[in-house]
Amino acid sequence: MAKYWQIFVSSFTDYGNYLFREVLNPGWGNYFYWLIGLSLFFWLLEIVKPWRAQQAILRKDFWLDGFYMFFNFFLFSLIGFNAISNIGVEAFNDFLSLFGITNLVAFEVQSWPVWAQLLTLFIVRDFIQWNVHRLLHRSEFLWRFHKVHHSVQQMGFAAHLRFHWGETIVYRTIEYIPLAMIGFGIQDFFLVHILATSIGHFNHSNINVPLGPLRYLFNNPQMHIWHHARYMPRRYGANYGISLSVWDYLFGTAYMPEDGRDIALGFDDVEQYPESFVNQQLHPFLNNRSNGELGITQEEVKHLEKV
Ligand SMILES: [Zn+2]
Ligand SMILES: [Zn+2]
Repeated sequence: MAKYWQIFVSSFTDYGNYLFREVLNPGWGNYFYWLIGLSLFFWLLEIVKPWRAQQAILRKDFWLDGFYMFFNFFLFSLIGFNAISNIGVEAFNDFLSLFGITNLVAFEVQSWPVWAQLLTLFIVRDFIQWNVHRLLHRSEFLWRFHKVHHSVQQMGFAAHLRFHWGETIVYRTIEYIPLAMIGFGIQDFFLVHILATSIGHFNHSNINVPLGPLRYLFNNPQMHIWHHARYMPRRYGANYGISLSVWDYLFGTAYMPEDGRDIALGFDDVEQYPESFVNQQLHPFLNNRSNGELGITQEEVKHLEKV
């Protein structure tokens, strides 16, 4: 037990020291400044050449989402996730060792060139996340957490990181075993994280950059806005892609019936949804069984009956 307590305490202090170092030392290998730089980059594009020209530069919930960005990228790790995940990993390894399993690796890719390992991680992780995202829409329990992300009513780059911390736990937990089964020879996946963050910011930005045929490979604002559509013709939604759109095209979950520039976003009772960070964090835990559970609403049923 002392071992777990030790891990718990050092997770906080290690992460605190790490974040402190990041803020004090700007550089190309620094997450903190990459997040700021990417945000300024996409914000500038939104200002110079917006897709929805009438949308305010400081759109609805701009500052709330700005806070979410730093909370989910840094603070959540600082105040809890690091500790929970380090203990989880240790406990899981201890559990496996009861059965004499000391190594989960099933695929050795460590002899591959670094770029091939990074590309493998990027694709495999994105596919796992596409599946987790579908699950977030299909499970009534998980949808309550994922609703935070879908409560965005005006879309902009910072909406990317508006999500409940519970999602971080679900994604990381489900990712853990398949990724641990691949024996990577490198520890530093900085490039993959920055690439995924860039594409995530891009998908949510109020910009229109025609990708040509690349749109069948990469997710983009014109596709992802339909994922946030207030009214969907399908019970569990569509366009679950995170970085890559190709999974939706391959598995028949792509949906872009027309230009989605001005469609209503959110869900049926979104006006009743809490507007503050604290209340949005608490909302999934409260007993508030509204019509919006399971991703389909009374209004959507009426809408479906019409089509
Ligand atoms: Zn979603
Ligand atoms: Zn989104």
